[in-house]
Amino acid sequence: MNVAEIKQPASGTVPSQETLVEARDLRRVFDLSRPWLNRLIEREGRVTLTAVDGVDFSIRRGETYALVGESGSGKSTIARMVVGLLKPTAGSVSIAGTDVWAKAQAAEQRAMRRRIQMIFQDPFASLNQRWRVQSIIAEPIKAFGLITNPADRAERVAELLSLVGLDPRDGQKFPHEFSGGQRQRIAIARALASEPEFIVCDEPTSALDVSVQAQVLNLLRDLQQRLGLTYLFISHNLAVVRHMASQVGVLYLGRLVEEASAQELFSEPKHPYTRMLLDAVPDIAMEGIERRSIAGEIPNPITPPPGCHFHPRCPRVMAHCKTVIPPVEHAGNTSVRCLLYGST
Ligand code: SF4
Repeated sequence: MNVAEIKQPASGTVPSQETLVEARDLRRVFDLSRPWLNRLIEREGRVTLTAVDGVDFSIRRGETYALVGESGSGKSTIARMVVGLLKPTAGSVSIAGTDVWAKAQAAEQRAMRRRIQMIFQDPFASLNQRWRVQSIIAEPIKAFGLITNPADRAERVAELLSLVGLDPRDGQKFPHEFSGGQRQRIAIARALASEPEFIVCDEPTSALDVSVQAQVLNLLRDLQQRLGLTYLFISHNLAVVRHMASQVGVLYLGRLVEEASAQELFSEPKHPYTRMLLDAVPDIAMEGIERRSIAGEIPNPITPPPGCHFHPRCPRVMAHCKTVIPPVEHAGNTSVRCLLYGST
């Protein structure tokens, strides 16, 4: 994708100061143990994987907050906990002060679910192939009881199709009659149908042809400006994040290692891992020139390296990096988990 095709944000779209989404000390451990009897016979212990390890972040209303990292960094696990699809092992997520996972009355839970939507990586898998597009988009409107009159509902579906750049007559067709980019537009229309204020976009363009990626990203940005949406944007692609996000969190093996405004992160990266990721991003002006690849492999998350998880790949590793877990330090407006900063 030519990132130059992604529009620059319009002026006057500065996020508000109000915090809409807050994740505190979020943790998720998966138990990968074999059945009890196998473990007994083979004298094995339990096997666990800490996919997310004490992650904190907050998102202001109207902002795009991007979580970036390689595969296995925990970003999709965080996305699923934030939208209420996966229960955290510990910690909390709240939207406008209401805990997503708190025990609540059914009506409150429904109201919460309506406010949060998710757009997935693969639009083909996320749409029901046997339903016409109009039924797919009308389903959340019906489920949340937003419009009960069928004629008014059909009108709203046509309006949503226009909003995402499709023809209202496309509602008669089935998902397989569309291209990948058009299917992602249908998924966006369905996400908008419940009138959410917060949308989690999990790698929304990585399954699409390079030629249509910029169009879908521009659509997401236009919708944000028109509808005042707040996004959590999950991506492994820093070139895309640079043009979409106002705030960025960098994840490595389940820990947030750096958090800063997009402007600061891209102009003055602090953490050695962030620097390594940025070195691997082709510059717009240098497109076509071979980029430096990310050194080393991400370690097995079941047995992460002790101390700083990044130490086996870090070009600036010190002796104590192998034993001390770096605390969060503040360098200017950046939060960074690295022993090169602070007094430790
Ligand atoms: Fe590198 Fe040490 Fe900083 Fe980890 S704590 S990123 S190993 S310098």
